Amino acid sequence: MIAVLKSGTTPDQVQHLVAWLKNMSLDVHISEGAEVTVLGLIGDTSRVDMDLLKSLDMVETVKRVSEPFKQANRKFHPNDSIINAGDVRIGRGYFAMIAGPCSVESEEQIIEVATAVKASGANILRGGAFKPRTSPYAFQGMKGEGIQLLLKAKQATGLPIVTEIMNISTLDLFADVDIIQVGARNMQNFDLLKELGKTRKPILLKRGLANTLQELLMSAEYIMSEGNENIILCERGIRTFETYTRNTLDLSAVAALHELSHLPVVVDPSHATGKAKMVSPMACAAVAAGADGLMIEVHNNPSCALCDGAQSLTPQQFDDVCQRVNRIREAMA
Ligand code: PEP
Ligand code: MN
Repeated sequence: MIAVLKSGTTPDQVQHLVAWLKNMSLDVHISEGAEVTVLGLIGDTSRVDMDLLKSLDMVETVKRVSEPFKQANRKFHPNDSIINAGDVRIGRGYFAMIAGPCSVESEEQIIEVATAVKASGANILRGGAFKPRTSPYAFQGMKGEGIQLLLKAKQATGLPIVTEIMNISTLDLFADVDIIQVGARNMQNFDLLKELGKTRKPILLKRGLANTLQELLMSAEYIMSEGNENIILCERGIRTFETYTRNTLDLSAVAALHELSHLPVVVDPSHATGKAKMVSPMACAAVAAGADGLMIEVHNNPSCALCDGAQSLTPQQFDDVCQRVNRIREAMA
């Protein structure tokens, strides 16, 4: 439930009202805009007398929020959120160009790729250290050592880094990681989400292979309900009957998530298509649809990649994507 207060309501009156609402075992999220203050009532609002609330002098309107996600909901946080990662901002016009290999494989590899993608315009470096693989016999990532190599690449290039967590027991290893990724397969690992909610790290939350947008937003809500509001949503394709592509890129998710939520939305055309040749057109389409960023897999030698070589771009191909994306962003500005 959302209560919009009349302009001119004093901080004292707001505090008084908040105390009264909290007395009904509700959490109250206060959003102060330039003109109006909006209260988001979280919890069991069934006991709140809407008519009584509406009748108060300081209250402009009261609305029930039908969606079950509250803190991620644009209805009571009308402005786009901006997420800070290192000195990079994401959202409300700030664009994230996240690039790097599927997996960190060696110091030379990650430094070479990081240097190349930075020169082309990437502002965040990706690289998997803990890899969720379909087969237990496939390369599982360099784990803690992979994170150390990412930190070296961060030091060498100045790029903030994003890497995936699979188990909360490894959280200590992520102390200097700028953005923690929750991969598609863990989108509904609610215990993991709740623990990440207790940190203040930016979280890149990827949509699950077979999850609805509402389920994605409810997963964001798990993190936010523990106090961490630094979330970036990621559309990375969903599973459909189509087999030509690895997944089916749901670009309508960008527009829908922007309508439903204030959180930034980035698109991963690499995992969405599984094909290097399709990354550029889908990256362009995502930008045209209003994405707040892209996440693209780049490898210095895709044919020898230990993971996802078929969808990885060479640094030169990535450079070409950056130029196209820049032209589209300029045209849209
Ligand atoms: C990844 O980004 O490395 C990854 C494993 O992606 P997803 O979780 O979207 O499959
Ligand atoms: Mn990958």
